[in-house]
Amino acid sequence: MLPKIANPIDPVRSATMRAVKSKDTGPEMTVRRLLHSLGYRYRLHRKDLPGNPDLVFPSRRKIIFVHGCFWHGHHCARGRRKPKTNADYWLPKIARNRERHAVAVKKLKALHWDVLTLWECKLKNVDFLRQHLDRFLQRDGDHYFGRTAS
Ligand SMILES: [Zn+2]
Repeated sequence: MLPKIANPIDPVRSATMRAVKSKDTGPEMTVRRLLHSLGYRYRLHRKDLPGNPDLVFPSRRKIIFVHGCFWHGHHCARGRRKPKTNADYWLPKIARNRERHAVAVKKLKALHWDVLTLWECKLKNVDFLRQHLDRFLQRDGDHYFGRTAS
């Protein structure tokens, strides 16, 4: 019996989709490895939180998203690059991603989560990234809780 052959799919598009939709993308793994080496513990892809955040630090009440520049439409050279093919497919999708993320961040902040969004293009300088992560994870989130406001 011959295996069923799926509908033909544009191989370039499906490869790109796999690359950008993967949960364990290169940029995210870079951040995870660094966090791990710094001794931070986190949970991954909490589905019960708005936006299904990439990295969640429950005891610190912090959340980190790691965004691919193309997939999330970053204002950088890579993010502004127009897709060569299937632009009518990608552009609305990217616009929706941006919108969805903005809504998720708003909801998370309303739930008193402190949110950091890291962009793929900013991950190359490891020293900078390390300082950035430390600053974010150790900063006092009390401005959301209003501890000083009584
Ligand atoms: Zn970028």
